Amino acid sequence: MELRYDTFYIGGEWVRPTTSRTITPVNASTEEPLGQVPEGAEADIDRAVAAARAAFDDPSGWASWEPARRAEVMERLADAIDRRADGFVDRVSAQNGMPVAVARQLETGYPSAVLRYYTSLARDAVFEETRPGLFGGSIEVRKVPVGVVAAIVPWNFPQALTMFKIAPAMATGCTLVIKPSPETVLDSYLLAEAVEEAGVPAGVVNIVPAGREVGAYLVAHPSVDKVAFTGSTAAGRAIAETCGRLLRPVTLELGGKSAAIVLDDADLDLTRIGEGLFGATLLNNGQTCFLGTRVLAPRSRYAEVVDAFTALAGSLTVGDASDAATQIGPMATARQRERVESYIAKGRGEGARLTTGGGRPDDLERGWFVQPTVFADVDNSAVIAQEEIFGPVLSLIPYDDVDDAVRIANDSDFGLGGTVWTADPERGAAVAHRVRTGTIGVNRYIPDPAAPFGGVKASGLGRELGPEGLTGYQQFQTVYR
Ligand code: NAD
Repeated sequence: MELRYDTFYIGGEWVRPTTSRTITPVNASTEEPLGQVPEGAEADIDRAVAAARAAFDDPSGWASWEPARRAEVMERLADAIDRRADGFVDRVSAQNGMPVAVARQLETGYPSAVLRYYTSLARDAVFEETRPGLFGGSIEVRKVPVGVVAAIVPWNFPQALTMFKIAPAMATGCTLVIKPSPETVLDSYLLAEAVEEAGVPAGVVNIVPAGREVGAYLVAHPSVDKVAFTGSTAAGRAIAETCGRLLRPVTLELGGKSAAIVLDDADLDLTRIGEGLFGATLLNNGQTCFLGTRVLAPRSRYAEVVDAFTALAGSLTVGDASDAATQIGPMATARQRERVESYIAKGRGEGARLTTGGGRPDDLERGWFVQPTVFADVDNSAVIAQEEIFGPVLSLIPYDDVDDAVRIANDSDFGLGGTVWTADPERGAAVAHRVRTGTIGVNRYIPDPAAPFGGVKASGLGRELGPEGLTGYQQFQTVYR
């Protein structure tokens, strides 16, 4: 795969970059370069924001259209994305190491399902209502699009997380400047091609791959009305500071360190629950924000839980992300592997008991691989239990009773995902209700497009997905009549 692009998709056209800077995405499994794209500079962002601004401000343009008319365009975009399904799978998994089996589920199909869901919301949602005023007259309450959206996305699920922003923004009548992460740029060109093919009006979706400084420039751009960010908590704090100063609405989907709470009645037979446990704790090589990487195990069945997770992690097929049999691919970058390995070293140094993994696979000489790793006997105050590792590393933490499990689950700076594993779903839901987190599953976890997704505490602000996800792209306007 040698893919070269020399333009950006801005204002409905393929335009030349203003500098000669380039980005070279690399295959995470082989360390080979995959191609080259231009790297956006501030002047490119200026052009993209101007195009989005012009499209939004056009009095008879996109924002003024009936939602059902926008829905037709969104439907065509979903079709154009689906026609490129194989391309998205190949490009995403080559760039970030996501196993193709995972990419096939979550980087195609899923993003277009999100878009189709918002298409139906655009058709059905009520954007205006009239109510009687308390002091006479009537009041018109309008939900108007917030305006030009700066959408900044990370590399771990580049298409799904971009769609979390495009879909509600398009449904409400906003326009966007999307800044993909430098690690995952090739898939963003397929998206731009789909946008063009679908006949999305010029300037509604603009895409400029660039690094963090240019991202910061976009966040602070005077013509941007709202920022939608997914990424690390550190970057989220910096972006929130800028948006605070500018009083600019912002949605932040940040890091996590969620708890997978195994109750004392849980079924631990991996033939029945292995796939679900994998999806909730190790999906995408551990590079998934909502994973329950702190596994809380009852002391009464502690050894059994340790055995189950050790067997699960030890049984996974580690290999080239393009191999259909691969369950754990490489880390997305060399830097990311260094980070994961430094946490494994910290875990050893903190006295946690390594039960499987801990190193690099012997048989893979190229690629940024790390063995799926399990630490038992971890104290919840340990660094490996408190900080997000973003790799296939689980910390098993014993608890005394359910109150203790809830206390440990909540003893975290983060609050994004989590799961409860039990033979009794009602009991599981009662425990789930006590965990301070934006989302949590009972015996399963999948961010469902029909429900709000996001975090509390250092995991973020605001929600994406569900009908609730529309509100992040709307302002209320009240007209007294
Ligand atoms: P990152 O924060 O370094 O980068 C994310 C994106 O933000 C990239 O496009 C980057 O170029 C840009 N960026 C970085 N600093 C910026 C700044 N100051 N201003 C503007 N843009 C900036 O994160 P990453 O390493 O790419 O992704 C991993 C992190 O993302 C993890 O912490 C993970 O938990 C988090 N994440 C969260 C969710 C969620 O929904 N909560 C989903 C996926 C990933």
